[in-house]
Amino acid sequence: MKKPSVNIETSIIHKGYDSSNHHDSLSTPLYQTSTFSFVDAEQGENRFAGHAEGNIYSRLGNPTVRVLEERMTEIEQGAGALAFGSGMAAVSAILIYLTRAGDHVLCSRGIYGCTFGLLEMMEEKYGITHQLVSMTTEKEIERAIRPETVCIYVETPINPTMEIVNLEAVNAVAEKYGLKVVVDNTFCSPYLQNPLSSGADFVVHSATKYLNGHGDVVGGVLVGRDGEEVKKIRKTVQKDVGGIMSPFDAWLLLRGMKTLPVRMDRHVSNAKKVLTFLKQQPAVTKVFYPLDEGHPQYEIAQRQMREGGGLISFEIEGGKKEAQAFMNSLSLIKIAVSLGDAETLIQHPASMTHAVVPSEDREAMGISESLLRLSVGLEHPDDLLADLSQAFEKVKPKIQQL
Ligand SMILES: *Cc1c(COP(=O)(O)O)cnc(C)c1O
Repeated sequence: MKKPSVNIETSIIHKGYDSSNHHDSLSTPLYQTSTFSFVDAEQGENRFAGHAEGNIYSRLGNPTVRVLEERMTEIEQGAGALAFGSGMAAVSAILIYLTRAGDHVLCSRGIYGCTFGLLEMMEEKYGITHQLVSMTTEKEIERAIRPETVCIYVETPINPTMEIVNLEAVNAVAEKYGLKVVVDNTFCSPYLQNPLSSGADFVVHSATKYLNGHGDVVGGVLVGRDGEEVKKIRKTVQKDVGGIMSPFDAWLLLRGMKTLPVRMDRHVSNAKKVLTFLKQQPAVTKVFYPLDEGHPQYEIAQRQMREGGGLISFEIEGGKKEAQAFMNSLSLIKIAVSLGDAETLIQHPASMTHAVVPSEDREAMGISESLLRLSVGLEHPDDLLADLSQAFEKVKPKIQQL
């Protein structure tokens, strides 16, 4: 495992870019080009043969995108990274790379809806099966391993219930059975959690969320612990499936990412204030936050996360009607899916992000009709509390009638 030479606050601004190679431009230039011209036929031949370094065609690599990939490699403590056109392009690339017909993928009890959809499709078309299990202890994980299991795919914290997967246990079982471990680290960002440093093989990100942070890019990144493996994925799945990131999106991401640590500190401090406030509300029946002392996996979360992040879920007294009335009573806080933006967002998982999950499965996962998920943004905390407070006042008569 590669130890970072400087702190993330520094490397996320500087790593992978040398201005002397780019006309001394302080900001990383945007190489908005599809192809690159060779000085002569031999140079083209050598680049294609891999005998000479250099650009060929932007699906195979682009200088702006490369800076982003080097930066992500460093801040996730990996050995190589690949940028994709969306988080799902990164997720699909790694699942296509790791599996063949007949294999089995073991997943955490909750995974992103489209990742689940992709696995369902892979099962139907290629007979690659999957299973979702709770992963808080080695025993739970080991029990679910089959002879055809090839990889363990996890998200932690799990959306939207904030259940924590025990990464140490996952890695121990994977090592014992020779399985690859993939962690979707979107919710934490590399600033709060680095799964590769504790033994995971791959990390995937929806760069759309905290990494970019400004709600204006859809992108994804895959980071690997083994540089040779990452090169192999670049030359196979990424090149031939082709879900690459555009240079412009990489440029926006490089700009957005510079402030990840300062943004994340504010997301976390705002989230803690919102959490304290929610716990004092008589209409709030339950809160879900990884570093809340009442969280069932509080100790595991403390071991593997630097802070609890910017997402909070909570249940409001009543059901769907009361939850929706509460959302409709907010004014500053916007009703939207996605997360990690400057704007505070609220969504109703049962009717939005998890609407496709059958209701019995939803209930089993702990997603009730009265559950709401907040992505706490960067506004002044007093203004957020004021908006929440007036919304609770507005729904009070409705809830009192219950
Ligand atoms: C949003 C998200 C994805 C998918 O990313 P896109 O950029 O929307 O394709 C995957 N995993 C998690 C945890 C997400 O929040």
